[in-house]
Amino acid sequence: LERDAIFRKKHNIHVSGGNIPSPLHSFMELRSRYKCRSYILRNLAELGFEEPTPIQRQAIPVLLSGRECLASAPTGSGKTFAFICPILMKLKRASKDGVRAVILCPTRELAAQTARECKKLAKGKKFYVKLLTKQLVKSADLSKIPCDILISTPFRVQFATRKKKLDLSKVEFLVLDESDKLFELGLVKQVDSVVKACSNPSIVRSLFSATLPDTVEELARTIMHDAIRVIIGRKNS
Ligand code: ADP
Ligand code: MG
Repeated sequence: LERDAIFRKKHNIHVSGGNIPSPLHSFMELRSRYKCRSYILRNLAELGFEEPTPIQRQAIPVLLSGRECLASAPTGSGKTFAFICPILMKLKRASKDGVRAVILCPTRELAAQTARECKKLAKGKKFYVKLLTKQLVKSADLSKIPCDILISTPFRVQFATRKKKLDLSKVEFLVLDESDKLFELGLVKQVDSVVKACSNPSIVRSLFSATLPDTVEELARTIMHDAIRVIIGRKNS
């Protein structure tokens, strides 16, 4: 479509890849197109969000279609909900069968902030959203704590998996948030070990970043195979 192309242009959304789903024209389309549960729409309304931001318009349908996503959009443009929203929709409900989504952030502060955002969107639904704190990493029965969505720096996840305290073999979604910083800060090896620990062959991986330098794109290509690239604005702005 012509219609999609015009709409993307209007919102400065640049895409590449095969079979790209249509962008969202409104949050209501989450219900009409994807049967989004009411609690999410209610939470979005309560937060005062009227329209999806450009990255949300395109990245949400990409992840809901089960496609890998390599996304770049400026700081402050709503990238967090662009991955939290489809993850909550896909996981449907809480479970005690182990970790199903992992979100990696470059710093503990960003991880804590992402966990807070996630809880805002999950409000009213009993999801287990866990921030991997120092305390939790140390706890002997980490593996017995129910967790649907795990949010952490790569270091703590790597540590916990090495100590056999965390089984990530059932993870369905892996998000590398602020991936430019993840790679810049020399965390490549830690990220890599988490990628390997998330061994489910049908995992959907995604990268979100403010900028997409060639180095990040090259590393992304080593872990993603059929990603849809979504860029808002200019590539390295
Ligand atoms: P980024 O990760 O791209 O830097 P964030 O996800 O932290 O940006 O979002 C920045 C701010 O925008 C947050 O305060 C968030 O609550 C808000 N926000 C997210 N989505 C929307 C939306 N659709 N409408 C209005 N505000 C939004
Ligand atoms: Mg962010």
